[in-house]
Amino acid sequence: MTAVDIAAGVRNGTLRAADAIETSLRAIAATDGDVHAFLATYDDDARATAAAIDDRVASGEDPGPLAGVPIALKDNLCHNGRVTSCASRILEGWRSPYDATVVERLEAAGAVVVGKTNMDEFAMGSSTENSAFGPTANPRNTDRVPGGSSGGSAAAVASSMVPISLGSDTGGSIRQPASFCGVVGVKPTYGLVSRYGLVAFASSLDQIGPFSSTVADSALLLEVIAGHDRRDSTSLDSPAPSLVSHLHDGVEGLRVGLCPELIEGASPKIAERITVAADALAANGAELIEVALPELRYGLSAYYLLAPAEASSNLARYDGVRYGLRVDADDVAAMNVATRTQGFGDEVKRRIMLGTYALSAGYYDAYYGKAQRVRTMIIQAFDRVYQSVDLLLGATTPTVAFELGAKVADPMEMYLSDVYTIPTNLAGHPALSVPFGTAEDDLPVGVQLLGPALSEVQLFRAAQVLEQEAGR
Ligand code: GLN
Repeated sequence: MTAVDIAAGVRNGTLRAADAIETSLRAIAATDGDVHAFLATYDDDARATAAAIDDRVASGEDPGPLAGVPIALKDNLCHNGRVTSCASRILEGWRSPYDATVVERLEAAGAVVVGKTNMDEFAMGSSTENSAFGPTANPRNTDRVPGGSSGGSAAAVASSMVPISLGSDTGGSIRQPASFCGVVGVKPTYGLVSRYGLVAFASSLDQIGPFSSTVADSALLLEVIAGHDRRDSTSLDSPAPSLVSHLHDGVEGLRVGLCPELIEGASPKIAERITVAADALAANGAELIEVALPELRYGLSAYYLLAPAEASSNLARYDGVRYGLRVDADDVAAMNVATRTQGFGDEVKRRIMLGTYALSAGYYDAYYGKAQRVRTMIIQAFDRVYQSVDLLLGATTPTVAFELGAKVADPMEMYLSDVYTIPTNLAGHPALSVPFGTAEDDLPVGVQLLGPALSEVQLFRAAQVLEQEAGR
């Protein structure tokens, strides 16, 4: 069942929240042994929350737009009293002392958190193989990766263990696993969703966003979590957009741009799906326009200087003193080193070294400074193109889900998974991936829709059309 259907049923008394939760917990028990999407589940508390929701409905109250809907959270989102590990040994067993704003808003809307999902350590990766607690498998083919870094959240929805989940997207970590698993994934405009209570990776890029099996469910979920929050200084001073009410407005007259940079290098069948998607939008009244964005080709290089630079600063707080793991040693400096050596995995260490190097005296201008200028150039390039188009259409990923283990020895190959998703994060713009049939090896593939800041309404309208036309 979709989140829309569950919430409607619970609110009008035809479905018990308790039953919706039981269905979810049974699916997890039956499936998660093979998939490993979850790092923790809260069966008893979820049952108690659901029972309380049913009591409220019985006494005539409305528990809210997500009444009784089971949801899973990526394990970098703080949930009061719960472990928030970021799939890292350094935070193993660390309990958050407060709720993230998104968690507060979910619970106020009647959603029921059933557990925390697996991820690449500190959200660094594209396959969920960088988890300290073992990889997640792709539910469509368990020899394949689910993508990453929000692989657990994508897999949990793809295997119907929960109808909706939350992930975070710094360079593609929602859209890329959504594409690999055959679900919808949305990276909202920077500042639209509060990051208060999201463990920081690269603060100028991180955004929280939804996963779901239908476009309508992501629209509903994003409406609930979006909107100003004074506890996040980067939060936009604007209300949540009205996505659900515009979902069926269609694409008549919408100008959709196609650029080679968001398709080149994609596998033949993925490139073919983009053409079919473009035709589907045109058949529904959109105007297709060829554009060029050669600047996007520098996005990946700029990202792998900026994101590690920010991460090296954000991760300095894991010093063995304030949070999580402490490995004792003779003095404080030795304790810091021992803790970080033991607590961080290889990819996290690689990023910290890359980032520290890019920020160091003598190299700062050549690396970090230059990457900042490339970022500005990419923002200006998007601004130029969005003068003549409303949205852009392209691939989400160059390939379908690859085999577990295929890219672990080659970080550069792994980084290339995000070549089409990263530019959006650099610009702070929204983008989403919507399932659009299958490509190589009969595996699911998503197409990506991109737009300027706060274009979520148009993105969802186009996504809704593509969902209806996905069978073409
Ligand atoms: N795969 C990219 C990286 O490893 C993006 C990660 C993300 O969006 N969190 O940095």
